[in-house]
Amino acid sequence: MKWTKTLIQTLREDPGDAEIDSHKLLVRAGLVRKVAGGLYAYLPLGMRVLRKIQQIVREEMDAAGAQEVVTPILQPADLWRTTGRWDAMGPNMFKLRDRGEHEFALGPTAEEVFTDLAKGIVNSYRQLPLTIYQMQWKFRDETRPRFGLMRSKEFLMKDAYSFDVDADGADKSYWTMYHTYERIFSRCGLKAVPVQADGGDMGDSLTHEFHVLAEAGEDGIAFCEGCGYAANLEKAEKAESSDGAACPASAPYQEVSTPGAKTIEQVAAFMGLPAEAFVKSLVYVADGKPVMVCVPGDRDVNDVKLKRFLGAKSVALADFETVLAATGANAGFVGPVKPADASLRIVADVSLKGATGRIVGANKDDYHLRDVDLARDTSLSDSCFADLTIVKDGDLCPHCGKPMAIKRGIEVGQVFKLGTKYSGAFKAVYKNDKLEERVMIMGCYGVGVSRTLQAIIEQSHDKDGIVWPSSVAPYQVVIELLDPDRSEVAKVANDIEASLEAFGVDAIVDDRAERPGVKFKDADLIGFPVRVVVGAKGLSNGGVEIKRRSEDKSKTRIVAPEAVVETIKSLL
Ligand code: ATP
Ligand code: MG
Repeated sequence: MKWTKTLIQTLREDPGDAEIDSHKLLVRAGLVRKVAGGLYAYLPLGMRVLRKIQQIVREEMDAAGAQEVVTPILQPADLWRTTGRWDAMGPNMFKLRDRGEHEFALGPTAEEVFTDLAKGIVNSYRQLPLTIYQMQWKFRDETRPRFGLMRSKEFLMKDAYSFDVDADGADKSYWTMYHTYERIFSRCGLKAVPVQADGGDMGDSLTHEFHVLAEAGEDGIAFCEGCGYAANLEKAEKAESSDGAACPASAPYQEVSTPGAKTIEQVAAFMGLPAEAFVKSLVYVADGKPVMVCVPGDRDVNDVKLKRFLGAKSVALADFETVLAATGANAGFVGPVKPADASLRIVADVSLKGATGRIVGANKDDYHLRDVDLARDTSLSDSCFADLTIVKDGDLCPHCGKPMAIKRGIEVGQVFKLGTKYSGAFKAVYKNDKLEERVMIMGCYGVGVSRTLQAIIEQSHDKDGIVWPSSVAPYQVVIELLDPDRSEVAKVANDIEASLEAFGVDAIVDDRAERPGVKFKDADLIGFPVRVVVGAKGLSNGGVEIKRRSEDKSKTRIVAPEAVVETIKSLL
């Protein structure tokens, strides 16, 4: 391919809305252009990368025995109503009507469509197990689309769904996909680590997310070096600590004036005590009812764990009127001792069990209570305690007791055991060998194909630009033709291109009449894995220069034009 015949436009300036390196490079290297917030056009270079990732995903899915299909982006509301998700998905789903006033959604995912499809096709156990997948654009009205392709309104997802006769079969399908994902990401040149994740409204269902570790990641992940435990912070647990018992035995509690000190930091500074000495009390509304949640002063509430413990569909912090009605005070001064509403449900983190000598909000503005003994002074009984906090750096691993570290991750894929959540709702059954009807057991498996493209950049770039792994590079080799108007030089470049192509290596010849510096800068920005420099001066001195994108100049090899293919073969 000749550069001058290709639509490539690199930019000098970072796009104004880009906060992270991969977003800047994606746009500057001319892979995509923004159409509107969260919506992107893929330019030829971006398309080439996307297609290569898709190809890897396809090859691995097919090798695992999954079969490709495609289902409509436009999905009828009735399917979503069958599972109750038409309402449950809330404003994340783009909804629209046709001219006959029938309701549709732009598919944010496709469990309903695939379950209904399988129900209509599968009759007998002989047709199972079955894993079908598609690569289809998905739509989500994200609260905050950002970071380019990472969190966009429209994105390419590979979604797969497995159907099995029983739990053992479903288990096998799950782990087959898990290992397939390991291969997909590794072939994309990505280090993606599987981490345990929360099963959402599917309770304790097994699920793993695949994360690319990066500062720019939106998810926190707890890692234990000791035993390899890794879990999304939404899910991560810690070994039970003895927070409660560590405090001194307490005298009767007393009221202290803490004017204006609303946050733990403020009141801790005011009283000259560490945050751990305090109980942080927050009023939530769970499925419409207020609940007070108490955690140690130096910790935060994990909303996912709270929701799970309460068995609630939704939890959110209460507004100030609710807080006032429930406790008698404003946020910052509320606590578990005698709230105004005596029937207020109170729950607390397990580390507070038996806690004594604590400071809590007094349920009276500008006051706290000190020397509180939670067992003695509150209505909290054993069943009110649970693990409700977010794990912190240094917390002990729930399995081996070693300190854990918190890292950031970009979720590029997820595998999920669904059980009968969808097949049950759709009555998607098969007949077993005794002709009895049984509900199919399902799993679902997603790869964010377009997010993966950008995650590769986030993981593999330097100050000059992208450093593509050769498996997904837009072109594996750039041939820098330094004297395009000298035909004998151009011929060498073209011959190299032809022999590389014949060998299955895709190459682009930069035949622009630009200064070498400009061309090299663009090549580094776009990030072609190998650079071959062909110029009149070099040729008269014995050959062409070859260098990997990831190497510095000192590693440049000079080789005769005939030896280029062999050299590049070994470099790729
Ligand atoms: P997130 O937690 O990041 O919002 P999710 O868990 O809701 O993602 P899934 O339903 O698991 O997403 O979708 C499968 C994959 O699709 C994700 O692992 C992710 O890689 C990708 N994905 C999800 N939402 C987006 C988005 N808005 N833009 C780009 N990719 C996305
Ligand atoms: Mg997910």
